[in-house]
Amino acid sequence: MARKMLIAGNWKMNGLSADSIALATEIKAAVKSKKRNCEFLVCPPFTMLATVKKALRGVKVALGAQDCHFNEKGAHTGDVSPLMLTDLGCSYVILGHSERRADHGESNELVCKKAIAANKAGLKTVICIGETLEQRDRGETVDVCKNQVLGSVPADATALNTVIAYEPVWAIGTGKTPTAADVEEVHAQVRKVLAKKLGKAQANKMRILYGGSVKPANAKEFLSLPDVDGALIGGASLKSTDFMAIADNAAC
Ligand code: PEP
Repeated sequence: MARKMLIAGNWKMNGLSADSIALATEIKAAVKSKKRNCEFLVCPPFTMLATVKKALRGVKVALGAQDCHFNEKGAHTGDVSPLMLTDLGCSYVILGHSERRADHGESNELVCKKAIAANKAGLKTVICIGETLEQRDRGETVDVCKNQVLGSVPADATALNTVIAYEPVWAIGTGKTPTAADVEEVHAQVRKVLAKKLGKAQANKMRILYGGSVKPANAKEFLSLPDVDGALIGGASLKSTDFMAIADNAAC
């Protein structure tokens, strides 16, 4: 089953105007310089979405946000709706990142509500799942990920509007990574749960990204696994050469 690799950058709370424009401009030049068989996505902070969109004009790099509200509009001070994101030119939104689950107490139920609203507005979602170190040490990795998929992914999600990102919490920004065998096991189990929830056809087509300290040096190891369909990249996505080298080293 051919699934197009997705190379996605999560810029998190990084980037003022000058550095965001510089980074986007470098990515644009690199994407233009060579034909690659993967899809690129960058997710800058809300404040930089319009600026980055402008800097990427003319090149095929999708724009995504890092969160959204589940309502279209209304009295939700400080929040941003899915419609506001599509209006800005976003085609993706990351939901349920572990930093939002931890810092803002986001539950599977809330992530699912956001995903339904995002899909309704025409956005594709990147739904993040992953275990903490304590859960891993207790041998709960697969169960935690299965429950997050069951609770966070909408019942009518499709491979066209949904991407899953497996990001072990303890691997994010730490330089530590699971073994390739561990990653493949979780991805294969996640695909099985998706098959039960959404049917085999959607599960076989749905992309499951790996995230957590992905770097040019380990990109090939993870991205050549049968059930890994790309990467969600934090730190290394802030350096255009590293971001592009991840795609190149993964030969996608
Ligand atoms: C992330 O936060 O989505 C992430 C994977 O971060 P890093 O690549 O820095 O580990």
